[in-house]
Amino acid sequence: MTTETQNCWDEFLTFIQNRISKAEFQNWLAPIKLAETKTSSVVLEVPNVFVQEYLLDNYQQDLCDFLPLTEKQTPSIEFIISTPSEIPTKIEPKKALIKSVPHESKVSLNSSYTFTNFIEGPSNQFVKSAALGVSKHPGKSYNPLFIYGGVGLGKTHLLHSIGHEILKHQKKLRIKCMTTEEFITDLVDHLKSKALDKMKKNYRSLDILLIDDIQFLQNRANFEEEFCNTFESLIHQNKQIVITSDKSPSQLKLSERLIARMEWGLVANIDPPDLETRVAILRHKAELKGITLPNKVAFYIAEHIFNNVRQLEGAINRLSAYCRLMHEEATEDVAKKTLDEMFEAPPKQKVTIEGILNQVSKNFDVTITDLKGSSREKKIAHPRQIAMYLAKEMLSDSLSSVANSFGGKKHSTLIHAWKKVSKQVESDEGLRKQILLTKQNIETKR
Ligand code: ADP
Ligand code: MG
Repeated sequence: MTTETQNCWDEFLTFIQNRISKAEFQNWLAPIKLAETKTSSVVLEVPNVFVQEYLLDNYQQDLCDFLPLTEKQTPSIEFIISTPSEIPTKIEPKKALIKSVPHESKVSLNSSYTFTNFIEGPSNQFVKSAALGVSKHPGKSYNPLFIYGGVGLGKTHLLHSIGHEILKHQKKLRIKCMTTEEFITDLVDHLKSKALDKMKKNYRSLDILLIDDIQFLQNRANFEEEFCNTFESLIHQNKQIVITSDKSPSQLKLSERLIARMEWGLVANIDPPDLETRVAILRHKAELKGITLPNKVAFYIAEHIFNNVRQLEGAINRLSAYCRLMHEEATEDVAKKTLDEMFEAPPKQKVTIEGILNQVSKNFDVTITDLKGSSREKKIAHPRQIAMYLAKEMLSDSLSSVANSFGGKKHSTLIHAWKKVSKQVESDEGLRKQILLTKQNIETKR
């Protein structure tokens, strides 16, 4: 065995081990054996093709950093699938499997993720009422319910709330609430012990399947098929499915078949909460923590954290810890001192041609009509060229459509203006600053 390559593999494992959870490492990486090393490649023995896929899908770049490369700059690995007796005895696949066979009687739901603890506002009202509808009439209202939105906006919270609510009224229903990762791990475990039929039976006899973060099924074609089969089987029996995702079905890199299935029911989007809702969430979280949060302070925090409810929660945790330790009241000054680094830059405004014209008109003292007109007078033509420069820099529309917004100008006029201003800012510091300020104004204008 070439020691150097052996070291590469060990180094790769150490690198990864520090980055992922123990469970993930145990499930996926520990079973891989370095079977042989050659000078220009490594031979890895994997228990099944899923482990191979997992490795390549998730660590392609890291593998490139550690292992020899092929001519195409991909990691030079040959895979062999081990027969069951060759699986390293250390991982005891069968025993592990018995433990991990799911028992439906116990659903793992976070006890604080309930509808009562979910603060409603315009950004999540629709999703919440869909989730409530599903809880009241599982399998009969929207099936599947597909909830999507950004990180920390309450998708998992709602998914668990559905579980709680159903169990409150119908204790006997067989519910499974799991992450997509857990589904995949379960599938791999069953494959390892050749007990896929048992798993199919298990899943297909559920009444409710709640699946979190379906985006993790992307690029995992083998798992996708099994998921899709389970999905169809449940839907055909009118069993409720709820799925969460960070993207809408059509934006997911999944098979057309699965995307179409996920769009069968109701697709609901959850947006970042508006200011009032953020304040209400902060007050609710503060109450749960037992701290008094004056309205003014709640507004102050809500004005500075706007994209992620988890961060609002983090702010309350930090503030309450500080106030307890220092025996201080939660004032605006204390909030500023303790939370400063959590505060986000103001959200960028979607840039539009109107926004650019408005701002240039204000900052350079010309009218919008003049900006769109054809006067060659310097005090008008110069700001017009600046507006054109900014429009080309800041908008992603086609050049001709941008040019057209300036009273039907040609795309060559736009390019000419852009080149001219680009050159001017190189030597004119004052103009550069003025343009930069205008750009910031356009981006942050609320
Ligand atoms: P996601 O799954 O969308 O990333 P989570 O459901 O994990 O987000 O929510 C992040 C945190 O924010 C959780 O602790 C959750 O309780 C809280 N949270 C999110 N939305 C709300 C809300 N509308 N009301 C109360 N808490 C919320
Ligand atoms: Mg989540």
